[in-house]
Amino acid sequence: MRIPLIAGNWKMNGSLALLEDFGNAFARTESLSKAIEIVIIPPFPYLANADEAFEGTLVQIGAQTLYSENSGAFTGEVSASMLKEFGVHFVLVGHSERRTLFSEDDAAVLARTRQALEAGITPVLCVGETLEERDAGRIDDIVLGQVAAVLDGLTEAERQKLVIAYEPVWAIGTGRTATPEQAQQVHAAIRARLRTYSESLADDMRLLYGGSMKPSNADELLAQPDIDGGLIGGASLKPEDFIAICHAA
Ligand code: PGA
Repeated sequence: MRIPLIAGNWKMNGSLALLEDFGNAFARTESLSKAIEIVIIPPFPYLANADEAFEGTLVQIGAQTLYSENSGAFTGEVSASMLKEFGVHFVLVGHSERRTLFSEDDAAVLARTRQALEAGITPVLCVGETLEERDAGRIDDIVLGQVAAVLDGLTEAERQKLVIAYEPVWAIGTGRTATPEQAQQVHAAIRARLRTYSESLADDMRLLYGGSMKPSNADELLAQPDIDGGLIGGASLKPEDFIAICHAA
């Protein structure tokens, strides 16, 4: 009942040429089923071209971040309503690189989530623990804390619109993937936390796994009962790898 979602986060990578390669590759993938959702998340300047490159394919467009205000003197920032105008359907909030490199705390993540929801864009809330936190036995405390920090600030109707991505920080871009069991364990804990809000929230919310997901490990990860898709960084930069992961879903 939960439609699998595969999202490729290009981070600060890619080019117009890569976008064209992806557009052409997806134009040839008739075998991909309509029963999954596919999202490509390029850097801001490529959003307009992405909308065009993926026209007529299954691919929807996402953005990597947004600002917590809708307009004004915020040099360098981009608002939810601007993203909406460019056909953006999904936006990442709270990615670990935003949290650590750009000092976005839980309050900032909540404010951005609200902006996205107001514009009718689906926020993909990213959560995850560092290796230190894992070793200290603080996985639940950190991950469920990041989930609650946003969900507690929303109405039930707003919560229903979210996607959550569990991305253990130690697995992002490191080639070190969480084992399917490790990932499933945290996903199950997140779903149990969702159940404290409502049964339907727990049953319906899609939980993605992110952190060195690639064609060789996607099958096993996506086969876990509480893993409903993937947020893919490195392996989303090659059409053949990314499409292979879409097939695994
Ligand atoms: P990775 O990145 O697949 O390169 O580990 C995942 C992410 O940061 O979303």
